[in-house]
Amino acid sequence: SQIVDNEIADLQRRIDEGIDANQIETFSDFPLSRNTLAGLAKARFSKPTDIQKQAVCAALQARDVLGAAKTGSGKTLAFLIPVLEALYKAKTSPTFGMAALIITPTRELAFQIFEVLNKIRTAHDFSANLIIGGKHMWREVGLMNSTNIVICTPGRLLHHLDQTRMFNADELKILVLDEADRIMDSKFAKDMDNIIGHLPAERQTLLFSATQTKSVKALARLSLKDPAYVSVHEHE
Ligand code: ADP
Ligand code: MG
Repeated sequence: SQIVDNEIADLQRRIDEGIDANQIETFSDFPLSRNTLAGLAKARFSKPTDIQKQAVCAALQARDVLGAAKTGSGKTLAFLIPVLEALYKAKTSPTFGMAALIITPTRELAFQIFEVLNKIRTAHDFSANLIIGGKHMWREVGLMNSTNIVICTPGRLLHHLDQTRMFNADELKILVLDEADRIMDSKFAKDMDNIIGHLPAERQTLLFSATQTKSVKALARLSLKDPAYVSVHEHE
C-alpha cells in the first residue's frame, strides 16, 4: 500500500541520514517500523541494551554483523529486530516462503528465540515456525517452505537438505547464527558448509556469540561482506 511504501521510504531516509548507536536511548529512537515498535512496547521492552544499540544500528544499515556479548546481554532482540525490519522492507507476506533463517545449536535455545519472536511480532503479518524435529518430515518440509521466519537446529535443517529436493531458500533475505561459536567450531561445522551452499549469496548475515569469532575459516564459510564487528565488554 501507499502508506507502507511511504513508511519504508521514510525509514530508509532516516537510515541514510546516519544513525549513531550512542544517540539511542529508547527503542523509538531507532528508525524502526511502527509494527516492530508496537510489538516491543506490548512486550514491555523500552530501552535497548548496549549490544542491541550497536547491532541494530549496523544491521539497519544493511551490513553483515558479527556480534559478541556475554550471556544475558540481550542478543536475541539484537537479531530479531533486524529480522522483522528486513522482512517488512522486503514486503514479505505470510505465503511468501522462507525469508529469514535463524540457526541455533540446541532445541532449547530455538524454543526461547521462538518465544521472544512471538512476543514482538504481534503487529506484523509474518508466519514463523520451529524446525527442530519431532514432526513428520513431510510436514516439516511443507512448513519450512511456507514459513517466513524459520528457527532451526543445524542437524535437523541438514536432514531436510539431504532428504528432500523440495527445500527452497530462493527468497531468503537474512540468515542468523545464534551462539555462532558453538555452531562453527563444533561437529556442526561440516553441516554448516552444506547448509550455506543451499542459500542465496545475496543476503544479510548476522552472527552472534558470547565470544568474538574472527576465525577466518568460519568467515570464509559464511562469505560475510565487510562485516561490522560489534562487541560489548563488561565495565565492572
Ligand atoms: P543473551 O542471548 O545475550 O544471553 P537474551 O536475549 O536471552 O540474552 O536476554 C537476556 C534477558 O534479558 C532476557 O530475560 C530478556 O528478556 C532480557 N532483555 C533483553 N533485552 C532487554 C531489554 N532491552 N530490556 C529489558 N530486558 C531485556
Ligand atoms: Mg542467547
